[in-house]
Amino acid sequence: MVAVIDRINFLKDEINKHNYKYYVEDAPSISDFDYDMLFKELKDLEEKHPEYKTPDSPTQRVGTTSEKFFSQKHKYRLYSLDNTYKYEDLESWYKKITDEYGQDVELVCELKIDGLAIALTYENGLLIDGLTRGDGITGENITTNLKTIKSIPLKLFENANVEVRGEIYMPKTSFIKLNEENIQKGEKAFANPRNAAAGSVRQLDSTITAKRDLSIWVYSSIFENIENPPKTHYESLMYLKKLGFKVNPNIKLCKNVKEAIAYCQEWENKRFELNYATDGVVIKVNKTSIQEDMGFTARAPKWATAFKFPPEEATTTVLDIELGVGKTGAITPVAKLEPVLLAGSTVSRASLHNFDEVWRLDVRIGDKVVIKKAAEIIPKVIKVVDDGNHRRRAKYGLPERCPDPECNSKLEFREGEVSLYCSNPDCPAKMRAKIEFWASKDAMDIDFVGPSIIEQMYKKKLIKSPVDFYELTMEKLMTLDLVKEKSAQNLYSAIQASKHRPLKRLITAFCIKNVGKETSDILANEYGTLEKLQEATIEELAAINGVGGKMAIEIFEFFHNPKTIEMLKRLKALGVEPAPQEMPKSDILKGKTFVLTGTLKNMTRDEASEKIKMYGGKTASSVSKNTSFVLVGENPGSKLDKAEKLGVIILTEEKFLEMIKEQN
Ligand code: NAD
Repeated sequence: MVAVIDRINFLKDEINKHNYKYYVEDAPSISDFDYDMLFKELKDLEEKHPEYKTPDSPTQRVGTTSEKFFSQKHKYRLYSLDNTYKYEDLESWYKKITDEYGQDVELVCELKIDGLAIALTYENGLLIDGLTRGDGITGENITTNLKTIKSIPLKLFENANVEVRGEIYMPKTSFIKLNEENIQKGEKAFANPRNAAAGSVRQLDSTITAKRDLSIWVYSSIFENIENPPKTHYESLMYLKKLGFKVNPNIKLCKNVKEAIAYCQEWENKRFELNYATDGVVIKVNKTSIQEDMGFTARAPKWATAFKFPPEEATTTVLDIELGVGKTGAITPVAKLEPVLLAGSTVSRASLHNFDEVWRLDVRIGDKVVIKKAAEIIPKVIKVVDDGNHRRRAKYGLPERCPDPECNSKLEFREGEVSLYCSNPDCPAKMRAKIEFWASKDAMDIDFVGPSIIEQMYKKKLIKSPVDFYELTMEKLMTLDLVKEKSAQNLYSAIQASKHRPLKRLITAFCIKNVGKETSDILANEYGTLEKLQEATIEELAAINGVGGKMAIEIFEFFHNPKTIEMLKRLKALGVEPAPQEMPKSDILKGKTFVLTGTLKNMTRDEASEKIKMYGGKTASSVSKNTSFVLVGENPGSKLDKAEKLGVIILTEEKFLEMIKEQN
C-alpha cells in the first residue's frame, strides 16, 4: 500500500507540473476533470492528515506566475474558487451559511466563463493597469495587450476609482477559425478556447493580440471613491454595466440553493448554444456584509463556490460515413462530422468501430448525433438525436467493395468476426496501413517517417511494402517533395537505425493476426531468434502460456506462407537483423522487489527495471515493508527517507551493477 505522505507528495508534484503547463505554457496535457480529481484527492488527504499540509501545497495557492512579462503586485489580492461536481456539496455549503446567517440567504448565479482571469485598475474612470491573476498576489502586466480588446473600456462613463475582475475569452467560432489558420500555416493549434485566449493575451507583440478576436465578461469589483457602494453583489454587477462594462446577461438572483441548482441544471445543456466556453456556474452569496464576514481561505472565498459541469458531450451532424482500411484489411466506418467543440477541442471525425455499431445506433448520413470522448481522448458517436427527419434518410447499407479505388475488391465477413474485411490479400490500402504501422513507435520506431511521407513514398512508387524501406537510397529519398539533402540524410539514418531493433518489435511489425506487443514479447522471450521462431510447430506454440491454439495456428501459417518466407529472405539480405533478445540471465533476484528513486548515471530507470526483470526480480512504485531494495540515483525523492525509516536496504547504482555482474 502507498503511504499517505508518498501519495501527497506525488499529487503535489503532479499538480504543480500541470499548473505550469496550463498557466505558463497554455498547453495542458490532461483534461480539467482529471486535474480536478487529482486536486480533490490532495485536498481530502490534507484534510484527513493536517500534519502533512504544507504552505507550498497547491491547495494553499492560486495559479502560477510566469516570467514572460513584467510582473506587478496586485492592489487587492485575487483568489481562485472552490469547486464541486456534485449538487449535494452545494447543499451542504449552503446549509453551513444558512445555519450561521438565517434561512433565506440570497445567491447570485453566474456562468463560469472558461477563459483567463484579469484585474483592471481604473483611476478617475481611466484604465491604468491590466494584470493577469498570476499567483493572486503578483500578476503579469499586460495592459498594452488588453487595450487592444475593444470590449474593455479605456474610459468609464463615470470618474470612478475601481478595480474590476473579469474573464478574457475567445468566442468558439473564432477559436475554430484561428486553429484552422494556424494548422494551414504549419503552426501549433490551441487545445481549447481558454488556452487560445490566454495565449493571445500573453503575446509579447501586442499587434498579434490585436488581430485575435477576444472579448471580456466582467464579474466583480472593488469600488474606492463612491459614496454609496452597492450593498449586494447583484447591485454591483448592475452598476458595472452602467459604468460601461460588459456584464454577462445570464446572471440570476436566486432566493436559495434550490433555485441555484435549478439554474445549474438548466445551463448544463443550454450552454452549448452559447458562442463562448463555460465550464460551470459560479454561485456567490449576494449580500456584501455576509461576504465580508465569511472571508477567505488561503485560496478561495468562503462565500462563493463553483459547480462544474461534467465532462462534455456535443451534438453535431454526420456529413458522411467514410471507410478506412486497417492493417489487417478490416474496414472501419468513421463518421465525418460538422466540426464541433468537444471537451475543449475541435472534433470533425468520430469512430463507429464496425457495421454492427452503425446499425445498432442506426446512424444515417445527415443525422444529428451526440458524440462523447471515450476516456476523454477518442471521440465516439453515442446516439442519434431524432430531428424529425431521421426516418426519411437512407439507412446505411453494407458496402460491397473496398473503398480504395485502386483495389475495389469485394468485401467479406469472416466466420466468428464482426468486422468486414477486404478480400484482396494485396489490397494497397491495407499495405499502406501496414507500412505506416511498421514505421510507428509501437513497431520499428522509424523517426521522421510519418503518414504523409509514407503516402508520398507510396505514390511515387518508392515503396510497395515495408521491406522496401531498406532499399531506399539517398538519391531516391531526395526525389520526395521538400526533402533536401539534410532531411534525406535524417530519413536514411533513421531507416538504417531501425534494422537492429529488438526481436519483439520486429514480430509486432509483422502484423500477424491477433499478435500484439505483449504476445510478440512472449514469443521473443521464448525463442530468442527469428530463425527459431520460424521453426516452431503449432503444438509448441500452443503450449506457450499466453499464446493458445487459435493464435498458434495464425503464427505458424504466417511463418510458413511463401510470401513471408520471401519477405524474411529479403529482410535478411538487406541487413535487417534484430538485436538478440536478452534472455533471462539468472534468477538471482527472484522474489526481490526493487523501488527506484533519483536519476541513475549509467542507465535510465526503464533500463534498470529491464535488468531487474532479467534477473528474476520485480519493481514497484512505492516503498513498503515488502520492498527488498531501494535503488538510489542522484536527487532521490521521499522514497529514500521512507526506505531509511523502514530499514529497507539501500543500493547505489554501482552496488546494484556489482550485484548482477557477479552472476555473469
Ligand atoms: P477555476 O478556473 O476553477 O475558478 C476560478 C476562476 O474562475 C477565477 O479566477 C475566474 O478566472 C474564473 N471565473 C469565470 N467566471 C467567473 C465568474 N462569473 N465569477 C468568478 N470567477 C469566474 O480556478 P483556477 O484556479 O483558475 O483554475 C483551476 C482550474 O483550472 C481547475 O479546476 C482546472 O479546471 C483548471 N486547470 C486545469 C489544468 C490542466 O492541466 N488541465 C491545470 C491547472 C488548472
